[in-house]
Amino acid sequence: NLTGLNVLVTGSTSGIGQGIATGLALAGCNVMINGMGTPSKIEAFRANLEASSNRKIIYSDADLTKLTEIEKMFSHFEKSLGEIHGIVNNAGIQHVAPIEEFPTDMWDRIIALNLNSVFHTSRLAFKQMKQRKWGRIINISSAHGLTASPFKSAYVTAKHGVMGFTKTAALEGAEFGIRVNAICPGYVRTPLVENQINDTAKALNLPIDQVIETVMLERQPTKKFTTIEEIARMTCFLMSDAAPSITGADIKMEGGWTAL
Ligand code: NAD
Repeated sequence: NLTGLNVLVTGSTSGIGQGIATGLALAGCNVMINGMGTPSKIEAFRANLEASSNRKIIYSDADLTKLTEIEKMFSHFEKSLGEIHGIVNNAGIQHVAPIEEFPTDMWDRIIALNLNSVFHTSRLAFKQMKQRKWGRIINISSAHGLTASPFKSAYVTAKHGVMGFTKTAALEGAEFGIRVNAICPGYVRTPLVENQINDTAKALNLPIDQVIETVMLERQPTKKFTTIEEIARMTCFLMSDAAPSITGADIKMEGGWTAL
């Protein structure tokens, strides 16, 4: 039961973040959702979640690659929900290209969103969490925070960075009731991955089913996608008081990928 917690879930207008925001709200949290998309669709999601959870659900359209927008998002949070108890750093993008062809602006964008924004949101909440002696930061990293794949240099670099930041923040928060953890999912069937499946199918001239079997899930021994629901459940668990010793951890939810 997470009743009374005010939490921010970045990148929650789609995919994993949307599932996490839903799970947290239904468990009792007031939630600020954030991300890009069609305004009417985002508003429908926000209003539905507010009605089904009976919590305050607010929306920020902040582009988290920009520091000024992150700071504005925090003032908006404080004005609308009050103090911040938890952050789920989930916003992230992917780009697949060999190093010598990797667009440099895309490199900068991925590092800004997938890594730097994790530092900035944590930085802006840390003082308050320390004073209250209670805080939760949950970073949605990836199996690619622990191991690499070719052609994903920026993503793998950013996600490895997130693991380092998770451990450092866990140490700094340890005596202040602040727990900082990373969840490392394998492949999850969201719009981010759906695009990769389609691109790979085109590039290799293979049917979708075969791409899923032989390319996407090749390294995931369960041969099953990680589900949004199981990530949402794990996030609610880490947000709770149920596991006081879990901090600085990498919670692998990758179907055995890194056990190979
Ligand atoms: P998604 O594309 O479905 O959702 C990404 C979210 O981030 C969207 O809400 C989008 O609007 C938001 N976003 C994009 N750019 C933004 C910006 N500049 N500022 C603010 N928000 C922005 O992706 P997803 O698959 O749900 O991925 C969510 C997280 O999970 C990412 O960090 C991703 O790296 C991680 N992850 C995904 C998978 C997977 O297989 N899908 C696996 C491991 C980790």
